[in-house]
Amino acid sequence: MEANSAASRHKLRLQNKLVEMGYSMEDFPGDWDAEWEEIMENPQLFSPDSSDSVYKTLEACIVREKERREADERDIRRSMRENEITSFISSLKIPPWMNRVDILQLPTIEDMIQQNDFSIPVTVKNWEMATPRISQEIDSYALYIQRKLCELMLVKVSVTDSSETNAQDELKDSVQTLNYPTSFFGCSCCSVSLLRYPSLLSHNNYSSTKVVVTQRLKFDHDATSIAKSLLTCLSLIPDNIDEAIFQCLRCQDHLVPPLSWDELVYHFVVKKYEYSKANAKWRLKPFTEDLYDDHALTGPIPIALLTKSEAETLRLKTAGKKLVKIRLPF
Ligand SMILES: [Zn+2]
Ligand SMILES: [Zn+2]
Repeated sequence: MEANSAASRHKLRLQNKLVEMGYSMEDFPGDWDAEWEEIMENPQLFSPDSSDSVYKTLEACIVREKERREADERDIRRSMRENEITSFISSLKIPPWMNRVDILQLPTIEDMIQQNDFSIPVTVKNWEMATPRISQEIDSYALYIQRKLCELMLVKVSVTDSSETNAQDELKDSVQTLNYPTSFFGCSCCSVSLLRYPSLLSHNNYSSTKVVVTQRLKFDHDATSIAKSLLTCLSLIPDNIDEAIFQCLRCQDHLVPPLSWDELVYHFVVKKYEYSKANAKWRLKPFTEDLYDDHALTGPIPIALLTKSEAETLRLKTAGKKLVKIRLPF
């Protein structure tokens, strides 16, 4: 009790002095400020009369508290502006992979948010005035992201030594390659493999901008080369490969269910990975010959494109069997 009241007296004396110095009780930080609390709660260590430096430290705590509150208020205003903008976003024509974070960082929108220290509400009128510029920025942003992906594929996109029109044409060609069913990417951040454009841009779609997402992506040369080899095995390439159904002819026909294109590529990528792992182990022994690669892409045709009824027959034959999924290192 004694200690408590000594502590309260100490605190009160410090506070009174600060009020005399022109500060108000509302300016004071609370127990979240460890430095402030240490002085306020320790009459043994800090005497209110002895040292100017104690007050200097307390003043610094007050200044810091003021800045913290201002930053909080700015954050609140910022999130109000962002919410106002979010209510207007649906009026824009945006690619499906663009998320709210992508939109909010567009220059015109960022300007609208920050205007007058985040204090100007986004109204229908100022939104409509800015819309044409925002639409242009969305197009440029989409091009920029496509260009980033093309760079990952090492498809040349020169922008410096040719006119903008030429660069646009070149980009169009590269974007075509980006759209090929043989172009595969992986995410080095979460080791997700066999991603394809444009759905790869929806990967981790909520918290990061697409600039950040593309920085984590890598072009998967191995999967792409397997996919290209598989595609050349087909005598007829289906118009929409993503609706086609395939069979692996390297596996016994009761073991592997009918596969979509992506699953087929995945299956061969996994087999290649397992084979190289087993082979590397095998080569440690005093043998020189490689193991037999049961999913080699040379030799007899490794895959078949199935008709609907063939797919159904295979489905019945392999009932209960699922494509084995493993985590591929990427
Ligand atoms: Zn990822
Ligand atoms: Zn197989």
